[in-house]
Amino acid sequence: MTPVHRDELWIGGAWVPPESSERIGVENPYTEEVFGHVPAGTAEDVNLAVSAARAALPGWANLPAAERGAALGRLHRALAARADEIARIVGLELGTPLKIAKAVQAGLPLTVLAGYAELAAQPWAEETIGNSLVVHEPVGVIGAITPWNYPLHQVIAKVGAALAAGNTVVLKPSEMTPLVAFLLADAAAEADLPPGILNLVSGTGPVVGAAIAGHPDIDMVSFTGSTATGRAISHAAADRVARVSLELGGKSANVILEGADLVKAVKVGVGNAFLNSGQTCTAWTRMLVHRVHYDEAVELAAKTAAGYTLGDPFDPATRLGPLASAVQRDRVRGFIERASARLVAGGLDAPVPATGHFVAPTVFADVDPDSELAQEEIFGPVLSIIGFDSDDEAVAIANNSRYGLAGAVWGSDERALAVARRLRTGAVDVNGGAFNPFAPFGGYKQSGIGRELGAYGLAEFQQVKAIQQ
Ligand code: NAD
Repeated sequence: MTPVHRDELWIGGAWVPPESSERIGVENPYTEEVFGHVPAGTAEDVNLAVSAARAALPGWANLPAAERGAALGRLHRALAARADEIARIVGLELGTPLKIAKAVQAGLPLTVLAGYAELAAQPWAEETIGNSLVVHEPVGVIGAITPWNYPLHQVIAKVGAALAAGNTVVLKPSEMTPLVAFLLADAAAEADLPPGILNLVSGTGPVVGAAIAGHPDIDMVSFTGSTATGRAISHAAADRVARVSLELGGKSANVILEGADLVKAVKVGVGNAFLNSGQTCTAWTRMLVHRVHYDEAVELAAKTAAGYTLGDPFDPATRLGPLASAVQRDRVRGFIERASARLVAGGLDAPVPATGHFVAPTVFADVDPDSELAQEEIFGPVLSIIGFDSDDEAVAIANNSRYGLAGAVWGSDERALAVARRLRTGAVDVNGGAFNPFAPFGGYKQSGIGRELGAYGLAEFQQVKAIQQ
């Protein structure tokens, strides 16, 4: 079994001792016990990692595509061999129920990485525009900073795309869920990747994250996390005009039109809102329902929420795990406490397991679209239901948000598609359309800048050059 005490950093193709002997403890949010640790990296460790990434860049960028693809294929195989361990580690450090951890926390990044191994093997497209030859090149050394809620997926969305596009990477995973990224470094070691193309420096945001964001020799910072941190990283990178891509928060709407398949729309909608205990940036946390279906939808949503089994992430009966930390739980409880809408399921007095940072699945009806509940990203299992009378009103309420990451529409195909086109978000699922890990993923408005996943995600890590002849 993988060690959960990690004392070294992966830099330049070797495990190296960190500059400082300080460690960051990793808590199991179900048992509330610290069960592992990682090095608390420093700016000096970041310098070392950036030097290694810079030194590795020309070799990796100029490798024939087939060889880059083969290297990423080896990385994928080494990581796939660790799939059960990935699910176990994410279950321990984040509290995701094991079944979901296997499918989403392990399965999804493996699918994404396999796609990038294939894309890496294809030569970068070139095109002729008049007398210009347009070519693509890597951006350079990439700083990747990731959050805790999908700790391997968010890493692979950056690392897979950046490496496929010929860049080299310095990665800082979240200090709350850092252990799974060490499994990626183990896989990189086993896959015999060229030294220095992938470097891992664990540590806190204000120390390692800030050192990456402000590093003069990092060409681009790719960040996933909160809007507030995204803003700070943009400021730091602006001083040297470094490229920044941001995947930030969301407050997505699930729009249920008149005549929709109500039972399916509500069940899928509640499942989406509470996936990963609501700690999902794309979660459909606002359910907008046409008035003709409103009362039935509220009743159904409340009943569905009340049917969730909370408990040990490693118990197969568990559908909802704890929140990632005590801080996150208290933050979510604060939103519930301040809410002035009609509570129809869950709430602060609903029973939860004796240990673990739990919040009961909570549903509010008659939510004011301008209220804190409907405007702020709560990042917990809290669903707000809002009524509307027309498609126009539904679109106006859905777009009444400073975020624009995802969303859903249910109704007759043509009408639902027409509403989907009017939503100002980076993605919309119509009548239960499945998540596509190769489609562009990213936000409008304060949900971010740029796109991840698939060919669009790869293009984010490329420069475009015009050669006139
Ligand atoms: P966060 O912004 O606190 O932290 C994210 C990462 O940034 C962590 O690695 C952290 O150490 C680092 N960081 C913190 N301060 C920093 C600083 N000053 N400089 C540089 N790095 C710093 O976010 P979180 O709490 O880990 O994650 C939750 C948030 O992430 C939610 O708002 C959620 O919506 C968002 N999120 C967005 C997406 C997306 O793709 N759009 C995906 C997942 C999560």
